[in-house]
Amino acid sequence: MIRFDVLTLFPGIFDGFLQHSLLAHAIQAGLVQVHRWNIRDWSQDKHHKVDDHPFGGGPGMVLMAPPVVECVEAVQGCADPPGRVILLTPAGERLTQPLVRRLAKEPRLLLICGRYEGFDERIRDILQPWEISIGDYVCNGGEVPAMVIIDCIIRLIPGVLGDTRSLQEESHNVPGEVEYPQYTRPRVYRGRAVPEVLLSGNHAAIAAWRREQARLRSLQRLQRPSLIHQPLGDHPANAPVDTQAVITPSSEK
Ligand code: SAM
Repeated sequence: MIRFDVLTLFPGIFDGFLQHSLLAHAIQAGLVQVHRWNIRDWSQDKHHKVDDHPFGGGPGMVLMAPPVVECVEAVQGCADPPGRVILLTPAGERLTQPLVRRLAKEPRLLLICGRYEGFDERIRDILQPWEISIGDYVCNGGEVPAMVIIDCIIRLIPGVLGDTRSLQEESHNVPGEVEYPQYTRPRVYRGRAVPEVLLSGNHAAIAAWRREQARLRSLQRLQRPSLIHQPLGDHPANAPVDTQAVITPSSEK
């Protein structure tokens, strides 16, 4: 079981997210808990203000230290263990699948969602949080980044996915590798047929085809020249395939 505590100014943003699909099932099954806390409840201001103008001037507003620090301390104190404090920020450590795996080992994570121009620096000084970014771009708030983190982590919690083979074969499980192309019914759609090997019932040939397709796709999409030199193996399914038809559908060119 993993517990998330999300500290936000907009708890309602998570309503739909918590009510659907894998996350809703995982919560129902007691595998995941998500608690939402409104940072504004820790404001000491009679108007519940949590932000103010930056000292030194400049655009926008900055989240004040007292409500954020005191909210974190109260939330940490309300359950055991106190949990790892994560500060969501574009300046943080970039989220990758290896980092998701590390985070998934924690029993409890507190996710602090920023807004406006971000955090008063003393929040970092006092809380010494683990700063995480979901990528090199700027969102309006930390709520979507928090959802991304929760969404990635819960896939790794035992019991959440029906079939854990999904995890072994999926993109980024091995750094630099993405998944092979997938097909389902119908067998032919707009003149494009499912590759014959997938209909052959030959599991070894299918596995070899998928390995090769994953290798080619990784090479093409992730631009990893080191993979070019990997041996192909001598299974007949590793004979050259029409990769253009499979890997670059005209709609993606
Ligand atoms: N002025 C800040 C800066 O330049 O770093 C950006 C503030 S952003 C508009 C408001 C909040 O959204 C941030 O405090 C952070 O919590 C969240 N946020 C935005 N982009 C993010 C990202 N790539 N990863 C994680 N959190 C992000």
